[in-house]
Amino acid sequence: MAAELHFVLVPLMAQGHILPMLDLARLVAGHGARVTVVLTPVNAARNRSVLEDAARAGLAVDFAELAFPGPALGLPQGFENLEMVTDVSLVAPFYEAVWLLAEPLEAYLRSLPRRPDCLVADTCGSWTAAVARRLGVPWLMFHATSAFFLLAMHNLDRNGAFDRAAGDFEPFEVPDFPVRVVVSRATSLGLPLMERQRRETAEAEATADGLLVNTCTALEGAFVERYAEALSRKVWAVGPLFLLNTDADTMASRGNRSAMDPEHIVSWLDERPAASVLYINFGSIARLFPAQVTELAAGLEASRRPFIWVVKETAGLDAEFEARVKDRGLVIRGWAPQMSILSHRSVGGFLTHCGWNSTLEAISHGVPLLTWPHFADQFLNEALIVEVLGVGVRVGVKVPATHVGLVKPGQVLEVQVGRDHVERAVAEVMDEGPAGAARRARAKELADKVRVATAEGGSPDTDVKNMIRHVVELPRKEEDMALGAAELVSKSNEKMDDADGMLPVMSEVP
Ligand code: UDP
Repeated sequence: MAAELHFVLVPLMAQGHILPMLDLARLVAGHGARVTVVLTPVNAARNRSVLEDAARAGLAVDFAELAFPGPALGLPQGFENLEMVTDVSLVAPFYEAVWLLAEPLEAYLRSLPRRPDCLVADTCGSWTAAVARRLGVPWLMFHATSAFFLLAMHNLDRNGAFDRAAGDFEPFEVPDFPVRVVVSRATSLGLPLMERQRRETAEAEATADGLLVNTCTALEGAFVERYAEALSRKVWAVGPLFLLNTDADTMASRGNRSAMDPEHIVSWLDERPAASVLYINFGSIARLFPAQVTELAAGLEASRRPFIWVVKETAGLDAEFEARVKDRGLVIRGWAPQMSILSHRSVGGFLTHCGWNSTLEAISHGVPLLTWPHFADQFLNEALIVEVLGVGVRVGVKVPATHVGLVKPGQVLEVQVGRDHVERAVAEVMDEGPAGAARRARAKELADKVRVATAEGGSPDTDVKNMIRHVVELPRKEEDMALGAAELVSKSNEKMDDADGMLPVMSEVP
């Protein structure tokens, strides 16, 4: 009997990377493959409910747990997720520890009864490429960010823009780009701390057997196409992946146990008028300075709008704030069930750090965004949201959190957005006049477009089917593997053809 196809997926140990990778696992398993996601014990425990969901849906998804080598590099025991690394001095050791997983990963893969058919690592997983090469296993890179960001970074790098810039804050245009976008080294490249990682990522990306992106052509078609051309590689747009699984229980427990009872949050929202509530959450990693928390709180209070604020910071909120706003404000301290909130009809705006997952989640629910980027891909995502898609309003942050100590010697820029500024920005995004109505209509239209394009049998299914076929057709060493894989693709094809009866036959798939 032919062996089944086995994919091994390796995310960066950070929620913004683990969550879409787990969704990808479901998507690939839905096409008949067996999928193993490599995690560390703390991250596996935190995301265990995904396995139960997958098992209920009859999908062969499991975890392989590798011990995290953090303590050997001075990280506290149990610090296995980037979200726990709140002290900047621990960022470099955290990434070093991730890189050290190469050896145990290789040992694990060698211990399997047969070599997997494909290794998929995310943007921060270039360290796995050499492992795959040594084992003769096809290697794909999965980007949990926008094609807009990927293409911009590729063009900037190739054109030497980063090296030419006079300083971190000098503005320059992204070259050879479908739209005009101005960035600086600070708002695109970030800190040189990650330079080695960036070089290795670019090399791995250029030599990958293919690239998966958590986006869809309905949203970013032009950028996906140009990115594939620029790299001369196959690119499959398999997103937005979270849409694969949106039942109420999954949404309520996605990524962690909620710090507040999800049912209470939903009934609180039920009592509010449609599109009246502003939702505020800066993702799993970004944190505001205490003085900035104070300004944001004052601005929200002055706005007189209902809001849900997910506060991960430990200082800056005065003790009476919650009591003063209790009639219209819900403060969640810790992890929030973001999907349950964004999918609620009462939410009419999202003050966000522009993490790509959060961006996709808001866009797919037709919620306009108020953009407050912090670092990494977030400033470029902001440009996409505001200038290209027209579904957002900028708060007006100029300096990435990574650079707040570099603007003026000896001074940390703790507050970038004062209370009045917050109040005005909230009024703008929640505006009930013509400008607000037009933005809401665009957001709704875009959400509908994404939903239609990605419904069952839509672009993620087609693209993942093409990806599997591509992997199967790569030159193989052991014949029996190819045999098993070919059989699986033909089964996957049958499933797709059943789904809508009009998908291209295999010979027509590029
Ligand atoms: N998230 C959540 N609750 C929280 C914070 C984050 O459910 O309190 C989820 C959010 O829905 C998204 C992911 O975690 O899927 C965060 O990813 P994103 O790319 O937006 O930002 P990051 O955390 O990587 O900066």
